[in-house]
Amino acid sequence: MGIGVAFAVRLCKANGMSETYTGKCLCGAVSYVLTGAPVVVAQCHCEACRRLSGTGHSAGAMFPARAVSVKGQLAEFSYTSDTGSVVTRASCVRCHSPIFGKNTHGPEHMTFTLGTLDDARALEVSVVIFDREKPHWDALPDNTEVFETQPDWTAEP
Ligand SMILES: [Zn+2]
Ligand SMILES: [Zn+2]
Repeated sequence: MGIGVAFAVRLCKANGMSETYTGKCLCGAVSYVLTGAPVVVAQCHCEACRRLSGTGHSAGAMFPARAVSVKGQLAEFSYTSDTGSVVTRASCVRCHSPIFGKNTHGPEHMTFTLGTLDDARALEVSVVIFDREKPHWDALPDNTEVFETQPDWTAEP
């Protein structure tokens, strides 16, 4: 992500210093612990995030790499960003859940996917980036039909 860290720090809520966030992949083979407050929590609509997530955006919390502990076997994929830095995305080798990304532009930080947090509601997105690339369907209209859980599709005649 091309966001400056000094800028990002201002955007985060002033949280306590003893926060801990845990997360894991779908199959449980990869797990992690993040200590302290995130530097920034961002939703990104860039092409790489859309293709890697298979949907309209990724959402990630950036932490200092020294505040991070990851267990389990990861598959890494690297590509060159528009600005020339190399971005590496790490996912579980078994279930392919995206776990974190890192960027040679800011090698002292790692960005963890919000959806893999054990408490997916623990953090708030504070910035949206590459908004110009957001697909129109990534923000649903108010009249979209909503179910609290998986509906029984077969019940419909
Ligand atoms: Zn897994
Ligand atoms: Zn992105």
